[in-house]
Amino acid sequence: MDRSTALVKCLVWDLDNTLWQGTLLEDGGGALRDDVLRTVTALDERGVLQAVASRNDHDHAWARLEALGVAEYFVVPRIGWGPKSAAVREIADELGFALGTIAFVDDQPAERAEVAHHLPEVRCFTHDDVPGLLDLPDFTPDAVTEDSRRRRAMYQAGRRRTRAKEEFAGADRDFLRSLEMRMGIRRAGPEDLTRVAELTLRTSQMNATGIHYPDAVLRELLDDPAHEVLVATMDDRFGAHGAIGVLLVEKHDRVWRLKLLATSCRVVAFGAGAVILTWLADQAYRAGVHLAADFRRTGRNRVMEVAYRFSGYTDDPCPCLDGIAADDAPDAPGDGQRLHLLPAPQPPPATMALYAPELMTVAVR
Ligand SMILES: [Zn+2]
Repeated sequence: MDRSTALVKCLVWDLDNTLWQGTLLEDGGGALRDDVLRTVTALDERGVLQAVASRNDHDHAWARLEALGVAEYFVVPRIGWGPKSAAVREIADELGFALGTIAFVDDQPAERAEVAHHLPEVRCFTHDDVPGLLDLPDFTPDAVTEDSRRRRAMYQAGRRRTRAKEEFAGADRDFLRSLEMRMGIRRAGPEDLTRVAELTLRTSQMNATGIHYPDAVLRELLDDPAHEVLVATMDDRFGAHGAIGVLLVEKHDRVWRLKLLATSCRVVAFGAGAVILTWLADQAYRAGVHLAADFRRTGRNRVMEVAYRFSGYTDDPCPCLDGIAADDAPDAPGDGQRLHLLPAPQPPPATMALYAPELMTVAVR
């Protein structure tokens, strides 16, 4: 797929004569055309979120969407009497998406012109374009992963979680405990690689080296006994977060070198990075090895440096570091550093349940 066309992350639908046939106020709103229903369900499957910008009475229109069995697909409905450009902007803000990743479909030329005038980055389509949307690169991700298939569900869970936090009166720590969080860390399989590569690409603030590992490089490492490629997932009582972290560990006989740690910005507030680092320190202690961590200051990842320092990593020299190659990626951004940790036994995390493998089988390079 040609990636010179940015992927649309949210499609905003008009309702009357676009999503459904007819006009709600005049004839009650008709059925969905087959191609519309197919488009809505396929975009949902591809991880493209969908929203509504319609001039109608909110409750009346929402009841019609429910009667048609499609209300659940629309994560942000903006149904009212203001300008559509304002509705589209609110939708983008609410989702945290740039306007250049939003598309808008409306049968009325005046509405499209109004949106195009005020929001020139938004891609506008007519109702006649709908049957062909699924074939456009704008709506075709390079790969459809487990996480793209449940992106809407994750977004909806996120909204419920945020609301619960706003309503929670106690301390932050008590709120975290109330979430009943679970983290799973496991060895990545071939089916995880696209998600893992995506995480190394998307997590610029939470990537310890700023280095992006493409699928092909990770695939080779899966079969290398001297490397561990690990993926972390999280869920809680509100639903799944999906894949939230990736670790790449190179095992030497005296030291494990953490070549990459990247975690999703979405779970920073839940302390996910600290839980991963604590688990790894405990694993290293039990295996009788030291830990070394590659770190590159990229200008955006200071929070990762704080996480390492807070977990006890230092710049102190240690003989275990002598055998490690200087750097795999001399062209990578920032100054390369190697941090060191003398691991100690660690308690299990206090705020979440952790399910993780034993890494004690040591491969010698
Ligand atoms: Zn050491």
